Amino acid sequence: MSSVIIDGKAIAKKKRIEIKRKVEQLKIQGIIPGLAVILVGEDSASKTYVRNKQKACMETGIQSFLFEYEASVTETVLIEKIKELNDKEDVHGILVQLPLPKHINPKNIIQAISPDKDVDGFHPINIGKMVSGEDGFVPCTPLGIIHLLNEINYTIRGKHAVVVGRSNIVGKPMAQLLLNMDATVTICHSKTNQLENYTKNADLLICAVGKAKFLGKNHVKDGAVVIDVGMNRDETGKLCGDVDFNHVKDVASYITPVPGGVGPMTITMLLENVIKAAKNINKI
Ligand code: NDP
Repeated sequence: MSSVIIDGKAIAKKKRIEIKRKVEQLKIQGIIPGLAVILVGEDSASKTYVRNKQKACMETGIQSFLFEYEASVTETVLIEKIKELNDKEDVHGILVQLPLPKHINPKNIIQAISPDKDVDGFHPINIGKMVSGEDGFVPCTPLGIIHLLNEINYTIRGKHAVVVGRSNIVGKPMAQLLLNMDATVTICHSKTNQLENYTKNADLLICAVGKAKFLGKNHVKDGAVVIDVGMNRDETGKLCGDVDFNHVKDVASYITPVPGGVGPMTITMLLENVIKAAKNINKI
């Protein structure tokens, strides 16, 4: 069996055209959706992520505001800035690029963001809403994965979904969203014994571990849908996922590649969340 490769790049492109149209509609109503991004320090990966987010905003007509701080900035200064942005009318979404320097507690920073502008979906109020099935902001990577599954017309209800990884930004919200959509969900992590006993039973297998080519053919049931969240470098320095793509594609029915699978959807969903925030704030 050879799997269908889910083209995240093409799906994201299509979605961004739709987003651009939504932005144009909002502009007709006098609203320019705005995203404020706070970047602390000199981490090169963070700088690249922020640059890509700003570029995506520009391409879809969303206004972006960048606030850069040296790594020595205090928590108080950042919280004051966030409070100011919470009150600004032209800012609908606020994002603080993680990770932050060690002396800053990310929990305090995230909790300072107004839940109405928390487009990353990390604020405890939005997490609570997701758990109780209420409408709120959902973290962008899991939201993007749901969008990919919708695009391939995959029925989540009744399926056994196995999520490998339980981080607050990917694994846990992913599992919760799938549960909300009536999947039977198993969550695996670094202390799981005999991982393949669980993954082998998955109709839908989502891997967010952060280890290059970690999940092999022996972990996957014939015909499973495999979603690879990982972004790692292989031994030659090439970007690769958590899944051993070349082997797993022989058993999966659908599979996401890295690059070009989940990655392009994450920023796309951020844009979608900014529009949602702009609409909510303006009661549209
Ligand atoms: P974290 O490091 O926060 O979490 C990794 C998870 O994997 C943990 O829950 C850990 O378990 C689990 N894990 C580690 N080793 C094993 C193992 N041997 N068996 C089973 N589970 C294991 O990573 P993130 O969730 O932030 O990211 C995961 C990957 O996804 C990374 O490669 C990251 O770069 C990528 N990523 C990609 C995004 C995209 O847009 N494409 C967005 C965000 C992340 P435990 O909790 O027990 O430690």
